[in-house]
Amino acid sequence: MSKQILCLPGDGIGPEIMAEALKVLDAAKLRFGLDIEVSHGLVGGAAIDHHSVPLSDETLALARNSDAILFGAVGGPKWDDQPMANRPEKGLLQLRSELDLFANLRPAILFPQLAEASSLKPELVAGLDILIVRELTGGIYFGEPRGIRTLENGEREGYNTYVYRESEVRRIAKVAFEAARKRGGRLCSVDKSNVLEVTGLWREVVIAESAGYNDVELSHMYVDNAAMQLVRAPKQFDVMVTGNMFGDILSDCAAMLTGSIGMLPSASLNEKNQGMYEPVHGSAPDIAGENKANPLAQILSLAMLLRYSFGEGIAADAIEKAVSDVLGKGYRTGDIASEGCQLVATVEMGDAVVDCLLNA
Ligand code: NAD
Repeated sequence: MSKQILCLPGDGIGPEIMAEALKVLDAAKLRFGLDIEVSHGLVGGAAIDHHSVPLSDETLALARNSDAILFGAVGGPKWDDQPMANRPEKGLLQLRSELDLFANLRPAILFPQLAEASSLKPELVAGLDILIVRELTGGIYFGEPRGIRTLENGEREGYNTYVYRESEVRRIAKVAFEAARKRGGRLCSVDKSNVLEVTGLWREVVIAESAGYNDVELSHMYVDNAAMQLVRAPKQFDVMVTGNMFGDILSDCAAMLTGSIGMLPSASLNEKNQGMYEPVHGSAPDIAGENKANPLAQILSLAMLLRYSFGEGIAADAIEKAVSDVLGKGYRTGDIASEGCQLVATVEMGDAVVDCLLNA
């Protein structure tokens, strides 16, 4: 039976970069004989314009019935006066919560050809390829009780609750072990178990889960050390797994090591391995409609989709190699341009990836 992708381009540069990813998908289908069907829907501002809401019931139903979702980006000044509950970004948040996308996968990949773009020395980051697996629906961001209360002496006190159930840790650990198995076979679990009981339990559960993954080498690191190691010697990591808050901070730090927001894909998965795949960047209204956007994060999101939701690792590897080959030929969109490069537009960049994929 064909696999179903729901394509949600969204706003701003979303439709432009999605068009290039779909060209690459067609090329991958041709080269690898993939049986994939694509349906289309509106989300974000585009959905507000047509349905008055950022995510219609019909689109949500399409999302539930798809095997994976390829998402562009949402938002823009046109919808800035919408009430908070009806902002374009709500469409994205609603999809994450309705589909219970608890596992956020954020690779920080630095193609050697772009090493100069990083704020770290090129030799420290050239070829960097880390995957951060962040728990997305639990931990201190969602724990109860939470709030601000007034003490007897009149002073106000803010409080949040850092809480994880064993089952929540087990399911994110499983995603991380599976991902490590498909990559370099090494997993580093990040916690603060010397201070926080909740992450002591986290560590216990991760160790217990490792029994089913003898082929994955498990290590542990305190979060403060992990932050330091990420900027000292980031290439030591393969896959890192951590809770919601630590993952939020570490994944942004790792992303910055690559220095190029137009290059970073991400995935959010649920227990059925259904996933939503999207670039890390936003809808870039400042360059929307100008054929200037870098489509590579969207194309790399498609590669992740094929690898993690469809088990098509060979096709995913080939797309990533085509991206690397295109960079090797010197093609650059404006955001990653450097001296001596060949400056190309969105469409030309997509064409170049297709060409490399079909003529590898
Ligand atoms: P942004 O990521 O859209 O843009 C930041 C800067 O990076 C801009 O200068 C933009 O031109 C550039 N840029 C981003 N992606 C690029 C690409 N692929 N190629 C070339 N240049 C690129 O962030 P922002 O300006 O803070 O937000 C713009 C809109 O996007 C807002 O409405 C915001 O809410 C929304 N947003 C959406 C998402 C999402 O859909 N996941 C994420 C972040 C921001």
